[in-house]
Amino acid sequence: MSRTFDIIIVGAGASGLTAAIQAARNGAEVLILEHMDKAGKKLLATGNGKCNFTNEKQGIAYYNGKNPAFVLPVLKQFGLRETLDFFQELGIYPRNKRGGYYYPASGQAASMVEILLMECKRLHVRIGYNVGIRKICRDGNGFTFHTKQGFFYSQRCILATGGKSARKTGSDGSSIQYIVDFGHKLTDIVPALVQLHGKQSFLKEIAGIRADGSIQLYIENEKIAEDTGELQLTECGVSGIPAFQVSRHAAYGLLYGKQVRVSLNFLPELSAKEANELLKQRFSVNGRGKNAAQALIGLFPQKLNSVLLQEARLLPEKAAQDCTQQEIQTLTERIQSLWLDITGTKGFDHAQVTAGGVDTCEINPQTMESLLVPRLYFAGEVVDVDGLCGGYNLQWAWSSGYVAGNAASASIRTNQGGNYDSNSAVKTAN
Ligand SMILES: Cc1cc2nc3c(=O)[nH]c(=O)nc-3n(C[C@H](O)[C@H](O)[C@H](O)COP(=O)(O)OP(=O)(O)OC[C@H]3O[C@@H](n4cnc5c(N)ncnc54)[C@H](O)[C@@H]3O)c2cc1C
Repeated sequence: MSRTFDIIIVGAGASGLTAAIQAARNGAEVLILEHMDKAGKKLLATGNGKCNFTNEKQGIAYYNGKNPAFVLPVLKQFGLRETLDFFQELGIYPRNKRGGYYYPASGQAASMVEILLMECKRLHVRIGYNVGIRKICRDGNGFTFHTKQGFFYSQRCILATGGKSARKTGSDGSSIQYIVDFGHKLTDIVPALVQLHGKQSFLKEIAGIRADGSIQLYIENEKIAEDTGELQLTECGVSGIPAFQVSRHAAYGLLYGKQVRVSLNFLPELSAKEANELLKQRFSVNGRGKNAAQALIGLFPQKLNSVLLQEARLLPEKAAQDCTQQEIQTLTERIQSLWLDITGTKGFDHAQVTAGGVDTCEINPQTMESLLVPRLYFAGEVVDVDGLCGGYNLQWAWSSGYVAGNAASASIRTNQGGNYDSNSAVKTAN
């Protein structure tokens, strides 16, 4: 196989495959170097195997990082409309489900991987699997890739290696070394969209409960983030989409040694006054012949009722109608604010994404090209951009992959006065 290419992309994940397709559509000769035995392993795991690949709601509010506005020029070039068209053209019929989440109608993430690989094949994109890259060096007007399988050369390099989350899918942080060697800075990296661990012993009693509610995250007693939806209580803490959405802030708080707490509200739709009225009603008129535990039946799952009473220091067997206004008030407060001291997260291996990455101050958002190393590009989660749950991380992967692939291939064309001749500017292997 030839060892010289116009563009070498490191990583055959969501962003790398998109970059390869766009670059090859522009006429570039593309090689992807992948250290796993297959492409798109993380993509296969997305959306519980169904792949929530984008969302009808878009905008800066759905993205995090040191500079969330960095995503705007990228999404402007390849946003929701372009993503739906791109996939529809390849054969993915998009189905819009709850909350604007888009999935392939097949209901299978595998179909996303398959159509991307079919398009790569049609465009003669080469993919080298099980490739162990030792280092990547700048070399004249291009790059030399030192790998266990020998040398490869290219005019442009796109790093699309993902973050450090879900290591078994291939994104293991091994590319950090190449990035640092190029002189780039990385912002602090933490797991995000991940379960939170709490220290309260009552967690063991409510493990397994799923209840609608909201979560508010406090760092040093200041409310930083909140979300509403189905909370999943576990032996170690709290999971579910609302917990995922606030988890990046918790992880950064803990990294910087701050006090991190969450407050869980199991009646988020009611004001404090309305909740108190509801409880009073249940414990007075409707509480005839019931004890405190029985007065809560039908409101929350049974195990949760026990913990809420315990936290409110109310004996479960006390007659409901004998409970004082103060006791009912305290119970209402616990229902709307069950505190957990957060001690950690479930870690990178269980996180859906990595928050932090290549500092966006050092990347041109119009092209995804490095501002430090000409002809080097970045795409996807390797960059300091992380999205909320709901298809935003894949949207970022498609968008930044498209922009990097497009700009890298267009810059070769421009250098060659508009005629694309991939053989003229590449070195031969020695
Ligand atoms: C369980 C789970 C569910 C998710 N669900 C969703 C969802 O429904 N919607 C959503 O928007 N997002 C979801 N995500 C997040 C989303 O999958 C990622 O943000 C996205 O895949 C990132 O794309 P990427 O191309 O940047 O990185 P990746 O998809 O991680 O691809 C990086 C590739 O680079 C390769 N690589 C890494 N280092 C090297 C190296 N040194 N040499 C060679 N190759 C290397 C890896 O093997 C991998 O193939 C989920 C993530 C997980 C873990």
